[in-house]
Amino acid sequence: MMWVILGFLLLLALGQAFFYSMQGGQTISYSEFKTLVREHKVEEVTVADDRVRGTLKGENGAAARPFTAVRIEDPKLVEDLEQNGVKSTGEVSSRWLGELLGWIIPLLFLVALWGFFFRRMGGAEGGVMSFARSKAKIYADDDVKVRFGDVAGVDEAEDELREIVEFLKNPKKYTSIGGRIPKGVLLVGPPGTGKTLLARAVAGEAKVPFFSLSGSEFVEMFVGVGAARVRDLFAQAVVKAPCIVFIDELDALGKARIQSPMGSHEEREQTLNQLLAEMDGFDARKGVIIMAATNRPEVLDAALLRPGRFDRQVLVDKPDVRGREEILKIHVKTVKLADGVDLKVIAARTAGFAGADLANLVNEAALLAARKDKTAVEMKDFEEAIDRLIAGLEKKRVMSDKERRIVAYHESGHAIVASVLPGLDPVHKISIVQRGFGALGYTMQLPLEDKYLLTREDLVSQLCVLLGGRTAEEIAFGRVSTGAQNDLQRATDIARAMVTEFGMSEELGLVNYAGQQRPTFIDPGFLPQRGNYAEETALKIDNEVKRFITEAHDAARRVLEQYRDTLDRLSERLLEKEVIESEELKAIMGPLPPKDSDAIPVEIPPVAPPAGSNSSQ
Ligand code: ADP
Ligand code: MG
Ligand code: ZN
Repeated sequence: MMWVILGFLLLLALGQAFFYSMQGGQTISYSEFKTLVREHKVEEVTVADDRVRGTLKGENGAAARPFTAVRIEDPKLVEDLEQNGVKSTGEVSSRWLGELLGWIIPLLFLVALWGFFFRRMGGAEGGVMSFARSKAKIYADDDVKVRFGDVAGVDEAEDELREIVEFLKNPKKYTSIGGRIPKGVLLVGPPGTGKTLLARAVAGEAKVPFFSLSGSEFVEMFVGVGAARVRDLFAQAVVKAPCIVFIDELDALGKARIQSPMGSHEEREQTLNQLLAEMDGFDARKGVIIMAATNRPEVLDAALLRPGRFDRQVLVDKPDVRGREEILKIHVKTVKLADGVDLKVIAARTAGFAGADLANLVNEAALLAARKDKTAVEMKDFEEAIDRLIAGLEKKRVMSDKERRIVAYHESGHAIVASVLPGLDPVHKISIVQRGFGALGYTMQLPLEDKYLLTREDLVSQLCVLLGGRTAEEIAFGRVSTGAQNDLQRATDIARAMVTEFGMSEELGLVNYAGQQRPTFIDPGFLPQRGNYAEETALKIDNEVKRFITEAHDAARRVLEQYRDTLDRLSERLLEKEVIESEELKAIMGPLPPKDSDAIPVEIPPVAPPAGSNSSQ
């Protein structure tokens, strides 16, 4: 760009010089000019405001020579010219070319420069007048090459998206029955797990055009530009339906609209409102599916998640061992592998890696091999690459082996207690794959039936399950970690609700101690956080809550001690596979006592025994 500007300036200078020399010929001083007039050497002159142009008489038959002199204040000029018989004309407005060069062209140049810089900022093609056009920013791909085969380790997300592919392939089939097609699909998951890749794969499988835009690109300097861009994006998409509109990094645009002390986010809000309006406004039956991706779903504006907008959410989680092996298989296709490279081993060593990390790993290993002039990538290169990447990922909190063991025992504890005790939903899945949102592992229970009422026994069992994780750590390692913080919080909440709201403690009776819902029109800061009761009662409540928790802890301990071998076996298996489904869990657990038996008493006695209890006063 610098060169263009310099070149232009040079051209301008040359042009001006050329113009003057062409017009004025030789430049002479004013006094010289007056001398020439007095010597009768001047043929004719044109007098302008600022200078005098004229021609000298050709001497000895030579052609007349033009000249220019800069004019100075000289009241006797006209008199002199007349006396010496010089033909003279005045000149006022015949300097358009001079004006053009001296004034209009630089102005045009400035306008062009201005346009150029704004275009760089706004990114719209075509100069000043087309800020709002999003053409240049919208990445439209009519022929996406990515298929589901290029994505691995996210089978559940893939299954959910297949339905969208079916619909895009044949929208009429679905709409003729009158079914409601999802308008918006939100892919949620940690960075690098393949959200963008999956969205492209949906377009590739369905063979429909793929419009993509990143949320951060919507947010421009000028109020209204982002909104115009959204409008434009949808206008373009509707023409090409069926197609996919993909908004990457939705959180940049769809952050909750809150009042911030730093002033309003006018522009972002307008853009978001426009997006909401477009999503409401157009008809999903036309076959435009809006997909979006985010790794921060918690910051999204609630309005985006309402029915008719991004009402379907697909979790794209980090892969387990098997998933990692599949992903590695995809990415090693492009590199030459030496014999003895075992992807299974690599997968086992890369717990906590997302798809993008694995792609990076393969690349890194290939580079290492190339640096050593090898012809194929060896296992050693992979090992070295893993060490390097883990060092780099340490900041991103990849679990160490020791931590993984603790998490495995912790989750196994939850799962065993949940399988053994009565009144609980069956365990659907245990996982120690680190999730993006803080949890190190999870045990998932699926309800068999909708429950509207929970008995005291159900709640007691739930307490036991929540404490099962912590208890397993105690039994296996004799030490405890911070990993149970959330469990303890939830257990305490349940126990407190049992005591103060559900009337499940005989000690405190059927009184509600939780207080009413606080009226919203009174500043909550001035109201007590609890119902109205004496300090003495507060002590009793605390003691009862503690007793419930302690009893549940004891019950969990009894269960886990009885199933000590199973705890070891399950934890080892979990460390190896990272995810265990209900079928395998059943096999590992072996025969269980019938759910309604009282093989393991977990009943919390209605009233605390008077002796040695801390609730006695
Ligand atoms: P995200 O959008 O979730 O942050 P991307 O889709 O941009 O992640 O992934 C970046 C790259 O990492 C992809 O282009 C691909 O090469 C690789 N990758 C990520 N996840 C997977 C996966 N599940 N299977 C195969 N490759 C993956
Ligand atoms: Mg992405
Ligand atoms: Zn837990």
